[in-house]
Amino acid sequence: MTAQRIDGKAFAEGLRAKVAALAATFERQAARKAGLAVVLVGEDPASEVYVRNKGRQTVACGMASFEHRLPATTTRAELLALVEKLNRDRFVDGILVQLPLPAHLDELEVIAAIAPDKDVDGFHVINAGRLAVGQPGFVPCTPLGCVMLLKDRLGDLSGLDAVVIGRSNIVGKPMAQLLLAESCTVTVAHSRTRDLPAVVRRADIVVAAVGRPEMVRGEWIRPGATVIDVGINRVPGAEPGKTRLVGDVHFASASEVAGAITPVPGGVGPMTIAVLLRNALVAAYRNEGLELDSAAI
Ligand code: NDP
Repeated sequence: MTAQRIDGKAFAEGLRAKVAALAATFERQAARKAGLAVVLVGEDPASEVYVRNKGRQTVACGMASFEHRLPATTTRAELLALVEKLNRDRFVDGILVQLPLPAHLDELEVIAAIAPDKDVDGFHVINAGRLAVGQPGFVPCTPLGCVMLLKDRLGDLSGLDAVVIGRSNIVGKPMAQLLLAESCTVTVAHSRTRDLPAVVRRADIVVAAVGRPEMVRGEWIRPGATVIDVGINRVPGAEPGKTRLVGDVHFASASEVAGAITPVPGGVGPMTIAVLLRNALVAAYRNEGLELDSAAI
């Protein structure tokens, strides 16, 4: 069997087009643009790239982008004061503080300071709790993007066996909650799991969010399973001095067995920012008390 490639890049483009159309409607109704504020502290090169892409795509979707670039020496009080100011700003619908923060700043404290209804990353404990009990709130962008890809591919997920490898707060745990909400039978595997290949082999759906290059092998996959590879790992390339990106799944061997699989790059990666923009737009509609069928996007 040769698996079908799940094209996250194309899906993300479609999602951004829907967001752009609804952002235009929002602007007409609210007489202002929906707004997303991004806070970057320090000069981490990878974070710089993410923030630049987020800003560019926010504007391309017809939303306002407010970028706050602060020096690495920013104090706790200064950062919390900025978050508080953004919480009160009615032109800011969503707030994202780019992680990781410099070591002297407490990420949990900063996330806790964001108003839950502007927490478009879905990292605030209030939003984690809402997801756990099935109340509407903001869901972390990467796992929500994965569920969108799965539903697009498989339709109704109910009754399917899903294995999520990884239990981080930003990917693994919310992923498991979302699959449970779709009535999958969910197993969460992690570094202490015994006989991971046997656990993975039971699954109709495998989501790998581990951060270990090409760890999940084709021999582990049940024939016909759908494989979502969240991993982004930079490894040495074929030519000296060059690097390339690989996922947490060994793509070549898994493609021989799976029914469908996301490539890296071009799978889950492009979904994250598209879902962030979707969340920011949903926040804008809610903040203005305007109707939006959030299931439509
Ligand atoms: P974390 O490092 O926070 O979590 C990794 C998880 O994998 C942990 O739960 C850990 O288990 C588990 N794990 C580690 N080693 C093994 C092993 N040998 N067997 C089984 N489980 C193991 O990573 P994140 O969740 O933040 O990210 C995971 C991957 O997804 C990374 O490659 C990251 O770059 C990528 N990513 C991609 C995004 C995108 O936009 N596409 C967004 C976010 C992340 P334990 O808890 O026991 O330590």
